[in-house]
Amino acid sequence: MTTIFEKIIAREIPGDIVYEDSSVIAFLDINPVNPGHTLVVPKQTFENIFDGDADTLAHMMRIGQKIGVALKETGLADGVNLIMSNGTEANQEVFHAHLHVVPRLKNDGDHFKATHKKYAAGEALLVASRIVTGLKI
Ligand code: 5GP
Repeated sequence: MTTIFEKIIAREIPGDIVYEDSSVIAFLDINPVNPGHTLVVPKQTFENIFDGDADTLAHMMRIGQKIGVALKETGLADGVNLIMSNGTEANQEVFHAHLHVVPRLKNDGDHFKATHKKYAAGEALLVASRIVTGLKI
């Protein structure tokens, strides 16, 4: 399914583009957490980390760092959250991969904190082993 981001990449609809190269484009989120909130988007069509290639995902992070530094240096941010939602259960709404570069300001009142739980005795070891089993590196 074509998403709104493919239309921005193809210049079919406008976007406030701050960076572009052969594999990624970065433009302002239409509903920013704070001014300067930017989305780093691959030109290649994939949904998220589950079907994306590692090099493109790594490049998204490289550009996310540069934009985060630019936000701080230009006074648009005091701190920056880099956030990528992968899957409906992780609150992904647009199913074309994107990395949020979210400028944060002192006392902006936004909280991205999930509720943290505690492990039962021995549970962490089992969970860690399960992840190790699934790792394909
Ligand atoms: P998600 O929840 O999938 O991680 O984030 C999708 C983001 O895309 C949201 O923050 C939303 O504001 C942004 N967005 C949705 N439609 C458009 C659009 O047409 N243009 C731009 N620039 N951003 C959009």
